[in-house]
Amino acid sequence: EQIEDLRRSHIAEYPDFPTPGVLFRDITPLLRDAGALREVIRYWMSLLPADIEYVVGTEARGFVLGAPLAYELGAGFVPVRKAGKLPGSPATLRYDLEYGSAVVQIPENSLPVGARTLVVDDLLATGGTAAATIELTRRFGVELLGASFLIELEGLQGRRKLPDVPLTTVWSIP
Ligand code: 5GP
Repeated sequence: EQIEDLRRSHIAEYPDFPTPGVLFRDITPLLRDAGALREVIRYWMSLLPADIEYVVGTEARGFVLGAPLAYELGAGFVPVRKAGKLPGSPATLRYDLEYGSAVVQIPENSLPVGARTLVVDDLLATGGTAAATIELTRRFGVELLGASFLIELEGLQGRRKLPDVPLTTVWSIP
């Protein structure tokens, strides 16, 4: 209940951003409030599976939230980046967007075979980003324990794109 109050007080809503018809949820008020951030990370920890070895976080807000989770879990953090940011020969996946396509990359040699791995992002909307992240993560041969989000927009049915992935969310918005 306290956690639910924090959503109302610390997630701002911006209509018509970044495009008309979209209601954007901004996590900045949560991030800048030391006590609220700590409380949410602590609650989030209680939802996660045991013995996680790596947290895979998606650029950019998945970095900000994934890193404190990894630290608290005693796990490593592995970034998923947009195209062209990573040196060497990163693992690469192109995926379809509503208009066009996008590329996500994970650093080479960053996830050992069999590693107990959790994917983290701030928000699950249509599920396209998470589905691509999970597919790319699985290419390393990890043991994918699940995916976890601060916010799930249930109406967009992103879960449907992620069958057979255990999902946890701090806040599910109908
Ligand atoms: P999806 O691929 O599920 O449609 O979109 C999810 C991705 O877009 C996530 O990486 C998330 O950070 C970003 N995103 C989409 N809508 C929102 C929003 O309303 N608020 C925030 N903070 N991120 C969003």
